[in-house]
Order: sequence, then C-alpha cells, then structure tokens
Amino acid sequence: MWLVGAGPGDAELLTLKAYRTLQSVDVWLVDDLVSDDILALAPTHVRIVPVGKRGGCVSTAQGFILRLMARYAQSGLQVARVKGGDPFIFGRGGEELAWLRDRGIAVEAVGGMTAGLAAASALGLPLTHREVARGVAFVTVHTADGTTHDWQTLARSGLTLVCYMGMARKEQLQWEMLQGGFAADLPVAVVERVTCRNERSLVTTVGAMAADISAAGLGSPALLIIGKAVAHRVSMQRGSAQPGCTVSGVAEAVEILAV
Ligand code: SAH
Repeated sequence: MWLVGAGPGDAELLTLKAYRTLQSVDVWLVDDLVSDDILALAPTHVRIVPVGKRGGCVSTAQGFILRLMARYAQSGLQVARVKGGDPFIFGRGGEELAWLRDRGIAVEAVGGMTAGLAAASALGLPLTHREVARGVAFVTVHTADGTTHDWQTLARSGLTLVCYMGMARKEQLQWEMLQGGFAADLPVAVVERVTCRNERSLVTTVGAMAADISAAGLGSPALLIIGKAVAHRVSMQRGSAQPGCTVSGVAEAVEILAV
C-alpha cells in the first residue's frame, strides 16, 4: 500500500516516484483535491475510487476511508491512497500511516509538492527572502477543535505564513491577525487552484484581504501567503514549463551544442 502525494494539480508536478507508483498499482483511492489531469494518467486497468470529503472532515467519513484502505490492501490488490499536495501537510498522512501500521499493513509514503510550495514558483513569489523573511510557516486556519494560533507570536516572528483552509474563515482570520499585531498594510497573496488551468490569484493586504477576496469571488481551494516577502513577487511569463515547450527547449539545447 502506498500513500502518494499528487501535488497541487498540474500533472507535470508529480514526482517520478509518484508517477511510477501510480502506474504500477491496481486501485487509486483519491481525494477531492486530486486533479482531473492526474486522474487522466490512470492506466485503463486501474480502479479509481473517489473518497473525498470536502470541508467538514467528519470523523466517520475518515473511519470509512481507513477501513476501505485496509479492505483493499488485505484483498491482495496493490493500492495507492492518492492525496492532493503532500500527504504530510494537512493531509492526515500521519494518522493514516499509523493506523495502517498498527494493523500490520505495510505502507510506504511517496511525497508530493504541497500547494504552498507550488504557489511560490507559480506566482514568482519568494517564501524566504534575504533580510525580509527568514523562514516560512505552513499553518491551517481550520482546526477541528476551533482553537486558533498565537497570532502575536507569529506576527513578531516575521515568518512568511502560508495559510491553508482559510477561505471559509477569511473575515475571522483577518480580524485575529489584526488583533494579533499584523500590520494592516502587510501584503497578502491569494491563489485559488494553483497550477491548475483555472488558477486565479490576487495580491492584497491584511487590512483589505477579506473584502478583496469576496469582491474577486475567489473560493476554496485557495491559499493565503502573508508577509513582507510577498512584496518581492516578480510577475513572470507563464506556460514555458508546459510539455509542448519542453520540446523546443531540447531543440534549443541541441542547437547550442551543435555550435
Ligand atoms: N495536502 C495538501 C493540503 C490539503 S488541505 C497539500 O499539501 O497541498 C486543503 C487545503 O490545501 C485547501 O483548503 C487549500 O488551502 C490548499 N490547497 C490544496 N490544493 C490547492 C491548490 N491547487 N491551490 C490552492 N490551494 C490549495
């Protein structure tokens, strides 16, 4: 059994190991966040079982997924549990791994690119920047028990914050951050469906983010990236890393070598 991170959506961002693993198994148990482009890579013999549970994270649903994983694995089939991004960043990878191991089911994890990391390259936005941001924290805004972060400590830390699952609570997030001492003019980048065909993003500030997100109609799944480093964003030409362009890249390299 494999726990596979499928990355943020663009199939090109699958690791080779993830790709090879996904090609070799019989069953994919897939989350909502796994993109259509990645599902399209499934060989015809693969059984795709959607087990997404958007939002809510109801514990009975998680229990059902765990039992399903065990059932398939014990039936002798090769199974991949396929998750968006990385299984160990807000992906319950730790819980699932421990649960399977406790039942004697051999499981291997294959990492994926977490959406927050993909957003940095996709937006041309450094998460760390010399003398501006000395580190980065991946945080969730949604917690099962409703507890919040120590925003004062995070504000003082100067870390770039990458906030997952924050869209449904953006007003509360904004209020808590302002109360915690984040400057109202601190820049915020918001990106919906990063690396997917319908990716959308905007840059705003802590003081204006809730209103600007609503006005633009951005919704889940989206990330908020907050911190001074966001001001160092460099807009780039996109699409140069698409498969079609790789071929011309090779042609160019051949030309250079021929000179
Ligand atoms: N394991 C995933 C995160 C799952 S939690 C990872 O490593 O990326 C779900 C949250 O991840 C969403 O609410 C959103 O905040 C973020 N997310 C996942 N995929 C995304 C994408 N393609 N674009 C923007 N945000 C995304």
